[in-house]
Amino acid sequence: MKLEDLVDAVRYLAVKALVGETPLLRAAKMYADGESPSVVEYITGVKRSRMRTVIARIRERCGSINRARRLVSIAVPALLEVEPVFEESNGVRRCRICGAVTREPERHLIAVHPDVLERIVRSVAERVLKALYITDVNKGLLTPSPMEATGVAHGSLHTASTCQNPVRRGTGAGTEEGMDPRAEG
Ligand SMILES: [Zn+2]
Repeated sequence: MKLEDLVDAVRYLAVKALVGETPLLRAAKMYADGESPSVVEYITGVKRSRMRTVIARIRERCGSINRARRLVSIAVPALLEVEPVFEESNGVRRCRICGAVTREPERHLIAVHPDVLERIVRSVAERVLKALYITDVNKGLLTPSPMEATGVAHGSLHTASTCQNPVRRGTGAGTEEGMDPRAEG
């Protein structure tokens, strides 16, 4: 994957984040992490066709579905930390930066505030790049298991106190002399 394609993929997601499409991004991440579309739809209320569209758009830029899933899984949490630029009240979307009211927030953002967008894109793309690079090296991106990084439980091992160690067999059993059957009697 070329760097510009990666940046472009992150930009697609960053626009969604900045206009406040938070449920869609959450849904896309759950879907990318392998959750079934019907479950994601039930939990988030986002139509499965919309989350599939997001993954498809990212895939067009990434080349492979595994990489697209991985990218979404890494980028979305970072993007959800970003405060959306638009607020919605009485059915209209208002830009927090310049106060404009618009029906096309994505277009407004890209046309009027490209600097804000690009700043977010750059920082998130950097994080994605690092994470993907490490994954590339370690796993060759063959196994789409984005849960590994976050899924490790910290508490579960604490209660499992070390019970019985397996009883050690005496060393050298059967190999030493002294078992001579003729020793009897
Ligand atoms: Zn504005």
